[in-house]
Amino acid sequence: MERLEEWRRLLAAGQYFKVVCGAGHEVEADVERLAYVYTLAGCNGFDVSAKPAVVEACGRGIRAAAEVAPAMGLTLGVRPFITVSVGMPGDHHVRKAVITSDCVACDLCIPACPTAAITADLVVVEPLCIGCGLCEAVCPPAAAAIRWRHDAKSLRTILPACLQAGAESIELHAAVADGEATLAEWQVVNDCLPHGLVSLCLDRHFLSNHDLLERIRRAHAVAGNRLMLQADGVPMGGAAASGWRATLQAVAMADVIERELKARDPRFRHLPVVLSGGTNQATGELAARCGVPFAGIAMGSQARGLVQAGLPNVMLGRVDTALKTLVAGAHAMIQTSLARPELA
Ligand code: SF4
Ligand code: SF4
Repeated sequence: MERLEEWRRLLAAGQYFKVVCGAGHEVEADVERLAYVYTLAGCNGFDVSAKPAVVEACGRGIRAAAEVAPAMGLTLGVRPFITVSVGMPGDHHVRKAVITSDCVACDLCIPACPTAAITADLVVVEPLCIGCGLCEAVCPPAAAAIRWRHDAKSLRTILPACLQAGAESIELHAAVADGEATLAEWQVVNDCLPHGLVSLCLDRHFLSNHDLLERIRRAHAVAGNRLMLQADGVPMGGAAASGWRATLQAVAMADVIERELKARDPRFRHLPVVLSGGTNQATGELAARCGVPFAGIAMGSQARGLVQAGLPNVMLGRVDTALKTLVAGAHAMIQTSLARPELA
């Protein structure tokens, strides 16, 4: 219960910062290093694939960071919370690209892939694929050679194993049209974690504002005040652009939830809303300028991209100048992203 209260306090203070390692990112060594660097940088949450070995890797990174922090002169705050992500078929976060026989070998998708998941002989390395769709975007329409495979997971088996491995929360990516199927999956998530915070990640790709709010109400009817929302602007939009344009949709979605739900219905007054999908260093400032409160920020591509070049050289337990540089950059990024400047 103490951890739960710690988490609620962070959310209430608007100081939750979660690094999204990627629901489909299953390279344990990468997740371990990301957790190591970002825990030292002051991050207080990680979102990882629903695979026990990946959860354990994240936990190892967090523990290793706690051990070396004093030697780096750092005082860490709340130990980061680990969330595992699962998703509905069709949701971007849990799909895997497949290159079909329609491929004309133009090679355009290889440099477009942010995780280097496409090999020179045009095969997708599944553990690296995060389902971002950038390969599909550059694939010539005449070929249209990218198809999608849902990374099906048997939730009732895999989720308890992930919790056992150290996860403290579950997030359901539910940006799909089928409300009934989503609710059924949400019930499973809640059955697996009946006393912890559970997160529902939604965007407006298939949902009108009315349908969005209705889905939140129905999710709340199951989870009550354990519900946490992730307002996804443009899923995985952070890699494509910086500045207000990238983050606008996330803030706009939180604005709808704030005005149409939280301000009107007392049951939702304390509902934590975490911004995601295109979040970047401009997110806090834009939200402040728009008068939109938020409980925290979830950041994927921007956060990963910031440390990507240096990550392969990071070794758990070793403190060197390269690590200090990475940590300093990541720390500054977290602070700037969460900051709500005083406006004149
Ligand atoms: S571009 Fe994105 S969706 Fe395509 S293979 Fe790479 S990670 Fe997967
Ligand atoms: S962009 Fe499309 S056609 Fe070109 S190599 Fe990739 S999958 Fe094949």
